[in-house]
Amino acid sequence: MATTTAALDSKVAVRATKLLINNQWVDSVSGKTFPTVNPATGDEIVRVAEADSADVDKAVHAARAAFEKGPWRKMAAAERGNLLHKLADLIEKHADELARLESLDNGKPYHVAKAADLPLTIACYRYYAGWADKIQGKTIPIQGDYFCYTRHEPVGVVGQIIPWNFPLLMQAWKLGPALAAGNTVVLKPAEQTPLTALRVGELLLEAGFPAGVVNILPGYGPTAGAAIAWHHGIDKVAFTGSTEVGHLIMEAAAKSNLKRVTLELGGKSPNIVFADADLDAAIEGAHFALFFNQGQCCCAGSRLFVEAKAYDEFVEKSVARAKQRKVGDPFDAASEQGPQVDDVQFEKVMSYIEAGKKDGASLLAGGNRVGNKGFFIEPTVFADVKDGMKIAQEEIFGPVMSILKFKDIEEVVERSNRTDYGLAAAVWTRDIGKAYSVANSVRAGTVWVNCYDVFDAAAPFGGFKQSGIGRELGEYGLQQYTEVKTVTVKLPN
Ligand code: NAP
Ligand code: MG
Repeated sequence: MATTTAALDSKVAVRATKLLINNQWVDSVSGKTFPTVNPATGDEIVRVAEADSADVDKAVHAARAAFEKGPWRKMAAAERGNLLHKLADLIEKHADELARLESLDNGKPYHVAKAADLPLTIACYRYYAGWADKIQGKTIPIQGDYFCYTRHEPVGVVGQIIPWNFPLLMQAWKLGPALAAGNTVVLKPAEQTPLTALRVGELLLEAGFPAGVVNILPGYGPTAGAAIAWHHGIDKVAFTGSTEVGHLIMEAAAKSNLKRVTLELGGKSPNIVFADADLDAAIEGAHFALFFNQGQCCCAGSRLFVEAKAYDEFVEKSVARAKQRKVGDPFDAASEQGPQVDDVQFEKVMSYIEAGKKDGASLLAGGNRVGNKGFFIEPTVFADVKDGMKIAQEEIFGPVMSILKFKDIEEVVERSNRTDYGLAAAVWTRDIGKAYSVANSVRAGTVWVNCYDVFDAAAPFGGFKQSGIGRELGEYGLQQYTEVKTVTVKLPN
């Protein structure tokens, strides 16, 4: 295994850089590698083996053999749970190293990775470890002399394609339920952030998962990712990323083998603030809802609707808060915001800032690059944003807040729902009636009331409309990794 020490102030050694197939660290069939870059500097950290369709084939064979013949299928369900617990313990043991690696590869502040990404990741594995021996069917009283029952069986070989915004956490959301239910996995991390996924691969080996149960293949979407989506030997594909690629995944599944599909896609989530809310709490909550993780959240509160009566005060204080936000070195404890993940995302976000200016929104904070190295962008606030503007319609995925004005509840609900997305929404008010009414009327998979971005492994998450298909987390997330089998037994007279 290649072991390289990145000479950066991250103080973390980069060890795993190959493909994990059948519990072996191997080079890709083509021998190709690709660089992963530190977004704080733009410099290459290390080169990583680049999987392609030939490697996906090998991994699918290993996963199929592990599913059909290996010890995994014969293992007691409780033992699968024990392995997941061991993995969680190992991640906890190496939490500091993993937080450093995540920060180095993704750009998020190290102290945020340590305080948020790591605990949520560990909790997710533990939550699903607990489910492993509690997956059970029903007995069904059908007519006639029959005994009828259901079994919840694993789907089989599962392909999982994950994004770069929360690499460790998205890996946990995928592996946790898949493994608890007894599936085997071929997982592709995002090209921008392969390093923590591979380090977790080492910990999976240390925990003692049998060969072929988890295969990890860094590579590019149109090659390795598409090979997973099209593969006839894969029974289900789970994808998190853009709605655009979600369409491609579903098309591939439809045209190949009708593999099961679950999708967690983009959003343009309404965050609705009524004038009767605790305004200071709402301002801080809206700041967090948008700027957390450099604005790179699928559920970011990116359409911030504020009631006319409170609009001016809200805008003024939100602008002041954004101007205070500290952008800088992810390894500086004072940094609240690091760089965008790569040059492509940086350029995309800057182009949305230009679009906001051109469309006539009022730019009241930020709008510029920070420094001349890495991919840092100032916390940016636009007021007087109108529904038809590009920045109010498309997912920006960056530190750009758009504040819109509304008059009453009927109007704001109607405008909130006027989008193809439906991932999340929030409402800030002291009036329980308004909170209840908005929570029931918005077409979104998650609604937060007087809070934002509250995640728990037990609470399902996913999208209405083009924000996705299926749910992750909780018992609903587990169901997406099982097939229901009905068994009917003729009873003797
Ligand atoms: P993306 O292309 O959807 O990437 C997500 C994952 O899908 C990555 O692993 C990617 O591989 C893979 N992929 C790309 N093309 C594929 C294909 N044809 N077949 C199979 N897999 C494929 O997202 P992105 O380009 O990184 O970001 C673009 C936009 O997507 C962002 O600006 C944001 O709006 C949205 N996004 C949403 C989320 C979310 O949490 N819902 C996360 C990330 C991005 P590569 O690593 O090679 O790209
Ligand atoms: Mg990187």
